[in-house]
Amino acid sequence: MRMHSSPRGSCEKFLDRAFEKLQIEPEHRHLLRTCYREVRFELPLKKEDGSIALFYGYRVQHDQSRGPFKGGLRFHPDVDIDHFVALSSLMTWKCALLDLPFGGAKGGVDCDPGELSAREMETLTKRLVERIAMVIGPDRDIPAPDMGTGPREMAWIVDAYAHQHGFTPDVVTGKPLELGGSFGRVEATGRGVAQVTALAAEAAGVELERASIAVQGCGNVGSHAAKFLAERGARIVAISDVNGGRFHPDGLEIDRLLEQLNATQQKQSLQEIDCGGESISNQELLEVDVDILVPAAIGHVISAENAERVQAGLIVEAANMPIDCEADAILRKRGTNIVPDILANAGGVTVSYLEWVQKRQRYRWSEEQVNDQLEQRLKRAWREVSERAETEEVDLRLAAYMIAVERVMQAVRIRGF
Ligand code: NAD
Repeated sequence: MRMHSSPRGSCEKFLDRAFEKLQIEPEHRHLLRTCYREVRFELPLKKEDGSIALFYGYRVQHDQSRGPFKGGLRFHPDVDIDHFVALSSLMTWKCALLDLPFGGAKGGVDCDPGELSAREMETLTKRLVERIAMVIGPDRDIPAPDMGTGPREMAWIVDAYAHQHGFTPDVVTGKPLELGGSFGRVEATGRGVAQVTALAAEAAGVELERASIAVQGCGNVGSHAAKFLAERGARIVAISDVNGGRFHPDGLEIDRLLEQLNATQQKQSLQEIDCGGESISNQELLEVDVDILVPAAIGHVISAENAERVQAGLIVEAANMPIDCEADAILRKRGTNIVPDILANAGGVTVSYLEWVQKRQRYRWSEEQVNDQLEQRLKRAWREVSERAETEEVDLRLAAYMIAVERVMQAVRIRGF
């Protein structure tokens, strides 16, 4: 049986390419790869039926040369320490690429939120805060939502953290507005994905208004990306969730689909929703003949096994690490344009930064101000990456990593040891 690359392995390969190109010294390579702190802890939970379940939680902090650690909390059954090592490293490069004053972190709990009641989720989240309270804080490490978490979980974190440190809402971003969240944060990642897709499509000579797009994942990122892309005139021909999806070559009725999904707070399966089209599996969705593919669910869905069958000429990585390093090499060879995750989904952390700034100022900006800042920052990052790719004659991922590594390396050098 074929061995797949691990998320950590893929991340190191992507970094290695940048290290080579930039001729980074060996001891610095080691430093930039290694995490500052890796924490794993147990989380016992008394369930509503009286039974005791044991979960494992993690917080990995990769680098803080440019500012406090920043990164999401993921509640998903398919996570382990290696996932978080890779994802925390990715956050370092993403923040540096967007020139945000943060380093990278990531964490979460190995659990299936779909199988936990709201009460159980609250207890688990607050227990997680008990375990990591000493390593997080507004100037230390600022968690945010990721898969399986959202404003509700961030509010519980604010509450639990307050018991030890007093009311400190800037300890997390992605909070509800009532607790000092920012306008535009919930939609920010998907909005950014749509913006970057538009820029990449233009550069690739694809007319977005006529383009066909398949989106994998219909959670926070996938649903908003689909909505904003449809608003820009694109035809969303396929979209899926964990159970599979819907496909219609003329385009799905995205508004109707999202309305029904939101009415059930994302609890309903896409298979049961009436939005036109036929059923499609997640695997089939990745191989549909479309102009643009937007994987917006989990990591490593495109590997050496299926890369040859992916037909889209442009892939926008809305999820973190949807393409493993082997598939990346195959697709590059075939001339597929790939907008890397550290650029494509950076809208979320960018508005998280804006939320953090607003909270520190005890002042709220309008939605227009937030969206305008987001657009400017993503445009600048896109310009820097695409220009670097052109001058160095490299792909977008390598160009993005080169910029990010240079920025972090510069901070490491001037801070000294
Ligand atoms: P979410 O939990 O809101 O939604 C996840 C979606 O993926 C759901 O539709 C779910 O059904 C689907 N899914 C789960 N497991 C799947 C599987 N095995 N196969 C196919 N689909 C599956 O999560 P999200 O916040 O939308 O995050 C999606 C991706 O985007 C993740 O990779 C995350 O790290 C990345 N991301 C999220 C943010 C953010 O602001 N939320 C920011 C940057 C990157």
